[in-house]
Amino acid sequence: MSGNNINKTDLIDDVNVVEEDVLKEECGVFGIYNNNDDLEVGKLTYYGLYALQHRGQESCGIAVTDDTVVKQYKDMGLVPEVFSPDILEKLTGNIAVGHVRYSTAGGSMRQNAQPLVSRYLKGALTISHNGNLVNAYEIREQFEKEGFIFQTTIDSEVLALVIARERVKNDSIEEAVAKMMDIVEGSYSLLVMSPKKLIGCRDPYGFRPLVIGKIDNSYVLASESCALDAVGAKFIRDVEPGEIVIIDENGMRSDKRRCKTKDTALCIFEYIYFARSDSYIDGVSVYESRKAAGRQLAIEHPVDGDLVIGVPDSGIDAAIGYAEQSGIPYGLGLVKNRYIGRTFISPTQSAREDGVKVKLNALRQSVEGKRVIMIDDSIVRGTTVARLVKILRDAGAKEVHMRISSPPFLWPCYYGTDVPSKDKLIACKYPIEEIAKVVGVDSLGYLGTENLHNIAKGSKCGFCDACFTGRYPTPVPKHVNEEELENAPEIRKSPKFTIC
Ligand code: SF4
Repeated sequence: MSGNNINKTDLIDDVNVVEEDVLKEECGVFGIYNNNDDLEVGKLTYYGLYALQHRGQESCGIAVTDDTVVKQYKDMGLVPEVFSPDILEKLTGNIAVGHVRYSTAGGSMRQNAQPLVSRYLKGALTISHNGNLVNAYEIREQFEKEGFIFQTTIDSEVLALVIARERVKNDSIEEAVAKMMDIVEGSYSLLVMSPKKLIGCRDPYGFRPLVIGKIDNSYVLASESCALDAVGAKFIRDVEPGEIVIIDENGMRSDKRRCKTKDTALCIFEYIYFARSDSYIDGVSVYESRKAAGRQLAIEHPVDGDLVIGVPDSGIDAAIGYAEQSGIPYGLGLVKNRYIGRTFISPTQSAREDGVKVKLNALRQSVEGKRVIMIDDSIVRGTTVARLVKILRDAGAKEVHMRISSPPFLWPCYYGTDVPSKDKLIACKYPIEEIAKVVGVDSLGYLGTENLHNIAKGSKCGFCDACFTGRYPTPVPKHVNEEELENAPEIRKSPKFTIC
């Protein structure tokens, strides 16, 4: 089945795909178990995935089961592009799981889209996975030496194989999931659908979020609470790091044997950038945490200015916080073209250079003659920031000061975030005063690592901040580039490298 008439790969040689200079989200998962409520689980999953679209725009899919048959549909593209009303009409059943994907491990191709449906001795096993395993390579190699054949290049298939193998040796699918948790290491917020059960689990560190909601007697699991709101589900609670929740005709029960009592490590970048502002993660509002980062930034890096602006969309909340703390008015300085996705296509190289202008334009009435303080969540390569600064100056801004609501990126992420390699990270190439010159701002300030955790005060989970600090909560993958790890501390040790 395919939702597109044109084979997209036929066109790739003729165009440039312009990617934003931002980090890519990982994935989003959504699942629902209908318990005598007459819910259309396929359609609800569609709306849930729609709300999670910010977590992945490459591919998406939905699988449903009615105790006997699993029906699924998945393809490359955004949720509204992939699913038509006709397709959704056919996705009927009692349990559904869905997935939106951005590829951080495994290539961007249709066969790697999820949910992943496998058939084995006990029937059908369907999984939707958000995260990255750090020992997938070794487990995969072990399976391959035993003669197993993999259909995809994603580590989620490793998860499926481990669960299937453990299910054959154990009495229940939930026990197989528990055994899987003893074998795999890394980040996973995982949904597992068997013919009669919907299971959700979060790795013992809790790297990625997962929440539980309810519609009457029926349970919903989703990456973020905004997806519960989208389907009219009431938020019940977060799945705890290491917890397995099992949902079937008897309701929901929980297995907390793998929960860690300390050293949990939710990705702090979920608060800074990934999650939607209207979501709550581990008891903390994402919007409030971003405002707190902006307030902290104003304390750490004050500057005289006339106007605080945020880079749409991810810098807006922190800009509001910065304005509140500094007393400098918040205003609109950049206007976003709402009809451009996270990637778009341009016909020539010169148009590619101008890509930022197509997406964002300065509001001259607002910035002309002003000392502008521009807030964004991060600088990755620096190319987008440089163009934005030029756009603001061309519109008459007298000064442009940049404030970043996270510390500089210095280390790779192994838990499902596409932090580019060190040679592409601007903070690994230059000290901060040089970055300011390269991107053309009058001053530059990053949030300090010492106050980073305060942005989500009250969170029930500890934090991973490894891409800023190099403190990895787990062993890093054995097959990674050793040189990359060895060199990174030298950059941090450099006397030139200070948080200004
Ligand atoms: Fe998140 Fe950074 Fe940790 Fe990756 S390394 S999980 S992006 S905080």
